[in-house]
Amino acid sequence: MSERIGFIGLGIMGQGMVRNLLKAGFAVRVWNRTAAKAEPLVAEGAQMGVSPADVAANSDIIITCVSDTPDVEAVILGEDGVINGAQSGTLVIDCSTISPQATREIAAKLAEKGIKMLDAPVSGGSEGAAKGTLTIMVGGAAEDVERAMPVFKAMGKTITHIGATGAGQVVKLVNQVLVVGNCLAMCEALLLAQAGGVDLQKTIDAISQGAAGSWMFTNRAPQIIRRDWRPGFMISLQQKDLRLVLDAADDLGVPLPATSLIFNLYRTLEAQGLSSEGNHGLMKALEHLAGFEVGSAQ
Ligand code: NAP
Repeated sequence: MSERIGFIGLGIMGQGMVRNLLKAGFAVRVWNRTAAKAEPLVAEGAQMGVSPADVAANSDIIITCVSDTPDVEAVILGEDGVINGAQSGTLVIDCSTISPQATREIAAKLAEKGIKMLDAPVSGGSEGAAKGTLTIMVGGAAEDVERAMPVFKAMGKTITHIGATGAGQVVKLVNQVLVVGNCLAMCEALLLAQAGGVDLQKTIDAISQGAAGSWMFTNRAPQIIRRDWRPGFMISLQQKDLRLVLDAADDLGVPLPATSLIFNLYRTLEAQGLSSEGNHGLMKALEHLAGFEVGSAQ
């Protein structure tokens, strides 16, 4: 019989990930701080948990996918947290993007109770979560990765065991340098296309499969030209990730000039109250610099 799964954090990512676990035949017990977000999943076959501790007490493997480091600490180490419900031998898999160092500290606290932990941050956006094609970067013990593999395969396509605890989070930060770099390149490219008077959809069709292509360009450039700013990944979370990237770079003494610039461009959008829009909203920061808009107004 397959292991019972607990899932904590039913946001943009968690919703799709739980659906794919249900589709793969796992029994899934869910909990979300805002309970209403659990209801559609319960209608599709998930069981409703009453707290992270309750989910942990009724699961063999518990997945967390919440916003930031303090949020993972709250749902795992808090009074009603996983640590106060899980049996020894339970496996916790954290799919949130958080601090590598905090990850090692959380894993050490769980280990005192015989609870195992993998860091398994993901990439692939809301689309990847919905389609079950996420890229999953894993840190932790090889035997735990092997145990988690059926669960990872239900949610993702490219699953890589990077190394010891925290290594998955380090690679996720590397991933984020590329995500925002590609995002800035996409926005600059669309600005030039708009100014050059060419058809934007034809521009996307012509170049997205060539050497200039990227996931960001394929998935978000069409959204930009429709001026659809709904989030696959919110600016507030993007900034959280860039803080983690820049902190790590500072600790390691690594210069990341473009990433620092992009962090500050996003800050101009946060200052305008746009934190809940998608990260492709970076376009608006460049439009302010250029003095014209890209897209449907053309
Ligand atoms: P989201 O839609 O904002 O969802 C965040 C989830 O975390 C919600 O379920 C929220 O509960 C819960 N949460 C936040 N703080 C909490 C707390 N203190 N206690 C309990 N629950 C808490 O975010 P998301 O896009 O799904 O992202 C989740 C994680 O995946 C983040 O670490 C993000 O960086 C990472 N990620 C996202 C993407 C993407 O494209 N979206 C891609 C890769 C990785 P409520 O519903 O009650 O607010």
